[in-house]
Amino acid sequence: MDDVEELYRQVILDHNRNPRNFGEIGDATRVISAVNPLCGDKLTLYVKVSDGTVTDISFKGSGCAISVASSSLMTERVKGATVPDALRLFDQMHDLLTGAHDHEPAEDLDKLAALGGVREYPSRVKCASLAWHALKAAVADDGGKAVTTE
Ligand code: ZN
Repeated sequence: MDDVEELYRQVILDHNRNPRNFGEIGDATRVISAVNPLCGDKLTLYVKVSDGTVTDISFKGSGCAISVASSSLMTERVKGATVPDALRLFDQMHDLLTGAHDHEPAEDLDKLAALGGVREYPSRVKCASLAWHALKAAVADDGGKAVTTE
């Protein structure tokens, strides 16, 4: 295991043990439920969008280390972002997790790049992508349907 892999492992462990933005937001403008039946990960995402910006975001749920760490990292990164930035981030993470374009992660993904390791484990990709699909559903103007990653 090289230094970068070790660093990434530490990021995942840290965010799993001490999830950021864990809990409910009373005045959320969108609440999304998401389930990954393959692993049993469950997530409820609370998002407050105001003037086109994600002013507050939090999550509750239970799941494996990857799904919790991904939710925590996602909320930490997206809080304060504009809706277009949040959607752009979804696309970048989708590429990273699925290896769709087989390129190095964008520089500005920063800690989020730690989640890229799941590409080696196809069964875990949905664990990492669950929070991001919930985010997309929450900020996209499509009525906020519940998310199930199949
Ligand atoms: Zn999982």
